[in-house]
Amino acid sequence: MTESHSAQISASRYIDFRSDTVTRPSQSMRQAMANAEVGDDVYGDDPTVNAFEQWAAERHGFESAVFCSSGTQANLLALMAHCERGDEYLCGQQAHNYKFEGGGAAVLGSIQPQPIENNPDGTLPFDKLEAAIKPLDPHFARTTLLSLENTINGKVLPLSYLAEAREFVNKHKLKLHLDGARVYNAATALDADITKIVQYFDSFTICLSKGLGAPVGSLLLGSHDLIAKARRWRKVLGGGMRQAGILAAAGQIALKENVSRLGDDHNNARYLAQQLNTVTGFSTKPEFVETNILFAKVDEAIDQAKLLSTLKEKGILLSPGNPMRLVTHLDINRDDIDSLIAELKAIV
Ligand SMILES: *Cc1c(COP(=O)(O)O)cnc(C)c1O
Repeated sequence: MTESHSAQISASRYIDFRSDTVTRPSQSMRQAMANAEVGDDVYGDDPTVNAFEQWAAERHGFESAVFCSSGTQANLLALMAHCERGDEYLCGQQAHNYKFEGGGAAVLGSIQPQPIENNPDGTLPFDKLEAAIKPLDPHFARTTLLSLENTINGKVLPLSYLAEAREFVNKHKLKLHLDGARVYNAATALDADITKIVQYFDSFTICLSKGLGAPVGSLLLGSHDLIAKARRWRKVLGGGMRQAGILAAAGQIALKENVSRLGDDHNNARYLAQQLNTVTGFSTKPEFVETNILFAKVDEAIDQAKLLSTLKEKGILLSPGNPMRLVTHLDINRDDIDSLIAELKAIV
């Protein structure tokens, strides 16, 4: 790295609690990217992508995997591979692939979402799901798929709930998809191997570019047939990437090197919650912090816009909101949390 480049990186170093998407690739990740063997992945010629997809499928007990540009794309490919035009998927009112993905399934897949109100723990009630399944009749969209999310708003779905969800979809002849953007955080919180979670699903996604620290990329896993369909849709959607091995190399490092440290983020999030409770006007429930995301109630008397701009001048970034969402990740350590708390106490 040249001196001017490293100076640029340190100059832009904020302590950033807005999301775990802000993580930067480590030196070993950058090295792996620089050294990656590459080819044209649209021809199936990129050895790094091929090895990564094959490794990921085997590691998670699935037949096949496809490397995607983003979690949004991976979810969309799953929905379009499971559902035909005029089908619908059941999901949570809070689901990322309903609420935060631009309505992509409807816009690009002619697939209708059927959202159900989430329980406070993020699960979906089976009686409400059952009532939303449409009869086979030309009046209705065909209910094809149930989509869950784990973690959801930082909460972990219990394994017993996942087993019940599997029974539910078997009974109703639906498929089961997991938006697993942060599924490794769930596995870490449960102290369970990842396969204990994903075994219940017909397909699932993993976001490599959040707490796992890759700059770009997600995976979608499923059966050979499902992933073949997804691969076709990926090309149609403009997601066929050429020398993508440079990115897959980062994804491989993310899953090999950065999973075992996710527990640090969870401990830091609980610590952050405890410390925030010592700041006037902030209140959190540390006992409810399960992974790397926490929510704090902020006194209405606090001018958030002013607070956030003052913190930004001190090199600290928060997202506005009430409750305010704060996220820990590999570029946040205890000292960073102590700095935030000290600045907050000085301001409020
Ligand atoms: C971030 C996220 C996604 C989408 O990932 P992008 O890579 O940002 O498109 C999907 N689902 C959940 C739950 C997420 O948090």
